[in-house]
Amino acid sequence: MALHNRIFVGLMLGAAAGVTTNLLAGGTRTVEWIVSYITDPFGQIFLRMLIMIVVPLVFASLTLGIAGFGDLSRLGRVGAKTMLYFLLVTLLAAGIGLTLVNTIRPGDGLPSEIKERLLLTYQGQAQDSITRVGQTGFGIQTLVNIVPRNPLKAAAEGDMLAIIFFAILFGVALTRIDKERSRTLISFLEGLLDVTVVIIDLAMKLAPFGVAALIFSVTSRFGFDLLAKLGLYVATVLAGLLIHQFIGLSLLVKIFAKLNPIHFFRSIRAVMLTAFSTSSSSATLPTTIRVSEQELGVPRQIAGFVLPLGATMNMNGTALFEGVTVLFLAQVFGIQLGLGAQAIVVVMSVLTAVGAAGVPGGSIPLLILVLQTVGVPGEGIAIILGVDRLLDMCRTVLNVSGDISAAVFVTRSEGLPLEVPGALVLTGAAAEPAN
Ligand code: ASP
Repeated sequence: MALHNRIFVGLMLGAAAGVTTNLLAGGTRTVEWIVSYITDPFGQIFLRMLIMIVVPLVFASLTLGIAGFGDLSRLGRVGAKTMLYFLLVTLLAAGIGLTLVNTIRPGDGLPSEIKERLLLTYQGQAQDSITRVGQTGFGIQTLVNIVPRNPLKAAAEGDMLAIIFFAILFGVALTRIDKERSRTLISFLEGLLDVTVVIIDLAMKLAPFGVAALIFSVTSRFGFDLLAKLGLYVATVLAGLLIHQFIGLSLLVKIFAKLNPIHFFRSIRAVMLTAFSTSSSSATLPTTIRVSEQELGVPRQIAGFVLPLGATMNMNGTALFEGVTVLFLAQVFGIQLGLGAQAIVVVMSVLTAVGAAGVPGGSIPLLILVLQTVGVPGEGIAIILGVDRLLDMCRTVLNVSGDISAAVFVTRSEGLPLEVPGALVLTGAAAEPAN
């Protein structure tokens, strides 16, 4: 069976078992035990298998991508195109979110007793995130921190923007030294990249089981009653994500990459499923790179450059979610946000989406910051925390799909072909012809 089908079966089985367990025995100690000692640890092991290769993968693929460009003017051109595309697509996403939330106005009708109860139930969690914002902040220092003082420390801490900065600099420097000397380093990095690919394949063999375990852990403990209470808000976010994913990206892929959208989405099924179940762009990155190369034919050089940048900086789903959530909470608290304030929300959503870490709930601390900037109480985040995991899973799918749309766009705009290499397909997906 093809890999994406196996992951899909894992997802469905995990969800079905989780929802049934939730309905029959939700909240009991047995369920807590199963999650704490069986499914969650197993899911975490799968996640760690993916995350542990992200740093070497990002470093090797970015450096090689840049070194492969040869001249710096090409790097500048590809870099500028990539950034511009990220910016426009994220702006579009935030715009879709804002239009929907202004039209549907899900916050107007939320009964005040539900609001109070949610604020009370999740205030501890909200406070943790607020403290984190206080510690890390977001401002000029965020910009300074992109330049690492110690690249090894950045790598050890998984500080993606700093790793990316160092890798770009390293790649640029590599193009400037004597060819004789750079050859050794380049073949070392190529070897490193090949090793990460083998580890990814190994991790993806675990994927169907890991995904089932992760989904079981979420669904067996999920407060489904909350979904009904916050139904309109959840529906607004999901509608926005669906519109951007299937209409917005389809048009972009068709217009800019001259690619059939159905072929595009069919090819990236394994990526979407991995993103959905891990809620992490970073953990999905190895799969994103592998699938883009093997199923869509994105050249290694472009994939290695655009996708690591995208996993960290291009978060369409997150920007859309942030825009909707800020306006929703403003509506709940009866705060009027005029056009000027809404423009600030859009800009802040785009900026914080760039700064958010590609991990589950990575955007929550920064979202609090956007709330505070426009005068909505940060504690208000408590109202949506109970449903955030579900929204996180969905917005991460859009985040990674947007990255791949950027990769196919850049490939085409560089006049390169999107050709799938022969039989070399992601392990397990070999049976599936790439269209
Ligand atoms: N989980 C998201 C991602 O990894 C980030 C977020 O929106 O919280 O892409």
